[in-house]
This record gives sequence, structure tokens and C-alpha cells, in this order.
Amino acid sequence: MALLQINEPGESTAPHEHRLAVGIDLGTTNSLIATVRSGEATVLLDEQGRSLLPSVVRFRAEGDPQIGYPALKEMVADPMNTIASAKRMIGRKTADIKSLRDQMPYNFDDESANVPRIVTVDGPRSAIEVSAEILTALKKRAEASLGGDLHGVVITVPAYFDDAQRQATKDAARLAGLNVMRLLNEPTAAAVAYGLDHGSEGIYAIYDLGGGTFDVSILRLNKGVFEVLATAGDSALGGDDMDRLIAEWILDEVDMEELTSDSHFLRQTLVAARAAKEQLTEVESTTIKLKLPDGAEEEMLLDRSTMNGIIAPVIDKTLLPCRRSLRDAGLDKEEIDGIVMVGGSTRVLDVLAKVEKFFSKKLYTGVDPDQVVALGAAIQADILIGNRSAEDMLLLDVIPLSLGIEIMGSMVEKIIPRNATIPVTRAQEFTTYKDGQTAMSIHVLQGERELVSDCRSLARFELHGIPPMVAGNGRVKVSFQVDADGLLSVSARESTTGVETQIDVKPSYGLTDTEIEQMLRDSITYANADIDARQLAEQKVEADRVILAIESALDEDGHQLLDDDEISSLRDGMENLKTLAETGAAETIKKAVSDLNQLSRVFAARRMDASIRSVMAGHNINEFSE
Ligand code: ADP
Ligand code: MG
Repeated sequence: MALLQINEPGESTAPHEHRLAVGIDLGTTNSLIATVRSGEATVLLDEQGRSLLPSVVRFRAEGDPQIGYPALKEMVADPMNTIASAKRMIGRKTADIKSLRDQMPYNFDDESANVPRIVTVDGPRSAIEVSAEILTALKKRAEASLGGDLHGVVITVPAYFDDAQRQATKDAARLAGLNVMRLLNEPTAAAVAYGLDHGSEGIYAIYDLGGGTFDVSILRLNKGVFEVLATAGDSALGGDDMDRLIAEWILDEVDMEELTSDSHFLRQTLVAARAAKEQLTEVESTTIKLKLPDGAEEEMLLDRSTMNGIIAPVIDKTLLPCRRSLRDAGLDKEEIDGIVMVGGSTRVLDVLAKVEKFFSKKLYTGVDPDQVVALGAAIQADILIGNRSAEDMLLLDVIPLSLGIEIMGSMVEKIIPRNATIPVTRAQEFTTYKDGQTAMSIHVLQGERELVSDCRSLARFELHGIPPMVAGNGRVKVSFQVDADGLLSVSARESTTGVETQIDVKPSYGLTDTEIEQMLRDSITYANADIDARQLAEQKVEADRVILAIESALDEDGHQLLDDDEISSLRDGMENLKTLAETGAAETIKKAVSDLNQLSRVFAARRMDASIRSVMAGHNINEFSE
């Protein structure tokens, strides 16, 4: 976390000096940058007066890469070097994006590489580097229009982005030379742009339909904290799908199905389809002009109601995740106070109509749906940099999935629960399992389930140098710290010696939003089964512990303190428990553990006497009475 800065005496900064802070919406299709000027959040424009920067980068053999519109233009001519949708790959491991890669036209380098890289004429490029180019272009735009260096930025990320995806986004910003004050969840930013954080309480659905992705989040505002109650969506659903359906309709109209293998023509048709769709937001009908591969020109009329029929499946498909998010949040539609509309595709009039009908609640549409996320980020940036008075509440976020460590029995002990507000620090003490144990292996996990195998492994590390002690006497404090960006660091400290090990959790890949959703849903579906599994695992651990303890005691002084019959009855009891621990139910094991404890009481009592005797040997009883 950033250190607090203290000025030299007499060098304090002027209280009213305005510091330049911006908010960036780093989108899959388009990116934007915004700032607060004279108390008003505004999007910054490029030299041609455009607010959007297409999130497309074209690498060239010579010269700087092209970014934004110029790159978009070359997408058809130079597909291999023109990279779009880098956000879908950021923070993901090669293996994780296998199916995604199959849909992309690019050549990827070494299959075995951890981080996927696209081969371009200018060398291999990762999604982090591509995103850094986009961020650099936005930074230049801001510096040109604000006339100075940027002091800090807030960058938005989807609410479901995990640790790796957030870290990778920050890495991209660092590459672009930006000082990231905070990563902010996109739905939260949208809510801020509408000033919903100034209300005292409320539950809002944020419906974000972009070019290629759909996200819906349910947020609850409570005392200045936005809690993400649920997120759902479809990572392959958006305006592009509408374009495709309209293009199919066009091809049908001109009887060109057999020519759809002509990729250039297909691309041109898609461009025409998209233009028609966007026009139909303003006008009732539009004319589509098309140049066929044989040179002939075609014209056709498309009206709004025909288009509504064509794109209906896309809009209807967004209502499924809406339903799911409500169910996951345990809410009825009536409990939602309003719906914030985000993303270029919510301009489509029928989207508004269908969403309003579904929720039968007020839609927030007053702020430009392309800009709303960037504007909210700019407002947060302005507060964080200190340009606003203290009465502006600092917005807090929450972590999307619980964090914990592996304990005996392949179980997960949660240390920070899901939805804890960040930044957050939590610590818990753990103890040694074996006599003389000098090291502890710490396995950090993310997820809602009880068993390690059902959660996601984030990192492993070891703490060495624990002084040898009797099992259960070693005390290791494990601390989890999640900073304001949702990034985790974990440390473990042995209390008697103070030895400490620490790591920043920086996994090289992430989860997909559908995987996160699946994990959350599973934790609900399997809640009972998980409790059973946990009880069983706990009893097994307890059985092993008791057996181990008796065994080591027997080795030590069993033959001095017990006769042969006593030893063999104890051994029988241990054998019995061992068998049960492998096959029995939790209750059965529990009973056998307690039976064995009973059986070993005589032995334990004699050991106690013996150890008191040995401590007292050579001493007078009076020495101990004080
Ligand atoms: P992303 O969040 O994925 O970066 P955007 O929010 O910028 O995407 O949305 C891009 C989508 O919005 C495109 O599919 C585009 O066609 C659509 N869009 C933009 N303007 C309009 C409009 N006026 N009418 C209908 N769709 C529009
Ligand atoms: Mg977006």
C-alpha cells in the first residue's frame, strides 16, 4: 500500500492547488478517459473531438503501433498484427484461454508459455502490453488537453475480475507510466456517476451491455459502502451479436449465402449492419448500401420494427443472467430500487423497453451509457487525489470471493470472507500438527467451498525456522491483507521467534466470470454436502492426531509405564480407529476417537505422574510450592 506522505516543515503544498487526476474505463471494445473540471465530470476528447478510443492496437514492422481508430481501420487488411479485445486475455494463463484462442485469428507463441503472447511483426505481445499501449494513448490525450502531468488515475475493471486480472491491469498501467490510485469495479463506477453513493441506502442493478460482453451486477449501498451482492453475465454476448444477426439478414436479402466465405465482403456487411443498427436508434428506418463482390451495388431498406425482430434473441438472452443474479442475491425484482444502464448497446431502444418491462422499475439513462463508467471513475479519482472536501464520502469496494488457507484434511479455513470491504487485514493463529515440526506450508486459496479441491489455488509458500515444540504448541499467525485495489498479500509469523515469511499473491492466470459464478453457485448448492464433508474431514484429522500422539507416547515410555496387556489393548483401539477413519462416517469416527481417548487415560495419567516425578527429582517439594 502507498505510504502516507509528509511534507518537510515549511514546505506544505498550497491547500487549493488542483492536482490532475483522471478516471479510465479500459473497455473490451472501447476505452475512455475522463476528469473533473470545475466540479463537473467530463470525458476528454481526442484531436478530432471524439471521446471513444477503440481498444485496438496494430503493431507494425517499423514505427510506433497504431492505436484506436487508425488500427480499427486496418483490422481487415492486417488481422494478424491488429489486436482487439485484449481485455479478454489479460491476467489469463495460456491454458485458460484455449477455447478463446481458437476463435481468434492470431498466432500465439509457445504453447507452453504461462502468459499467452500474440506473434506480431513487431515481436510477441501479451495482453498486458497491448493494454499498456491503449493506456499510453489515453494518457497522452489527457496530458494534451489538461496541459500537465497526471498525478493519479483510477482504472475500472469488471466486478468479477479476480486477483490475477486486477494485478495484470495494474501492470499495464505501470508500463504506461501511470500512477494507479485505485482499481474500481465498473458497476460501482456507474453507480457513482449517477450519484447513487450520496443516497443513504438502496439496491441497484447495473445492466452493462457492450460490444462483446454482458455483465449484470446487483449492488447494495449501505453507509457509503457498495457491496456486490451478485454478478452474472455472458462473456460472449453484446452488440456484435446483433450486428451478426443483421448481417445474416442482409445476406439473405441479397441471396449471397454462398459467398459468405469471402471474408472481406463479410466484414463490409458487418460494418453496414452495425451502422444501420446505430442509425435506427435515431430514425425509424434506414437504407443499407452494399457493394457486392461482383461490383454490383445493392440497396435495401431496414426499419426499426424489423430490426427489433432480428435482434430479439440477443436481448432476450440478457434477461437470463438478470434472473440469475437476482436469485443469487436472494432478491425479488420488487426489492431493486433502480436499474443503471451502461454500455453502448443500451442505446438500442428495444433494450431499454425490454429491461424496463422485465424489472418494472425506473431505468437510469440520463448519463451517456458509453461514458458513465469513465465519469464515475473520474469522480473517484478527484476524491482520492484530494481535490474534494472531506464530506465527499470515499467509496469502498468489497472482495468478490473468500480468501483462506489450507488446513489439515484438505480443508479450507476462510480468513477473509467474501464481500468484506477493502482495504482489509485479517489474521488468524494456527498451530503445529506434529511434535518437533519446524516448518509450515501455507497454501492460499480463493473460493466459497469447504474443500481445497473445490477452491482455486492462488499461491503456496513455506514458513521455516519454527522451534521444535510439542504438537499444538507452535503458534503461527497468518495475516491476510487486501489493499484498496483488491490485491492480496499474505504473511506468516511464528510468535516465539518472530520468524516471518511474506508473499504478494500474484498468480499468472485468472478465473473466467462464468467460473466465478459457478463457484458461487456451487457453494450454495453444495452447502449441506460441504458441511458434512467438513465434519468428516475434521474427524479424520482428529483421529490421525490422536493416533499419532499415542504412538509417539508409546515409543517414548510405553514399556516403562504399561504392561503388555495394556499396550495391546491400546494398540487394538488404535487399529480400530485407523480402519474407521478410512471408511466410517463422521459420527462413528468421533465416537471411536472418544473411546480411544478413554482407553488411553490410564497411560496419560501415569505419564503425568512420571513427568512430575522427573521434574521433582532432586528437589524438595517446598521449592515448588511458592
Ligand atoms: P465495451 O464495453 O465492450 O467496450 P461499449 O460499451 O463501447 O463496449 O459498446 C459498444 C457497442 O455499442 C457496439 O456494439 C456498438 O455498435 C453499440 N452502439 C454504440 N452506439 C450505438 C447506438 N447509437 N445504437 C445502438 N448501438 C450502439
Ligand atoms: Mg464497457
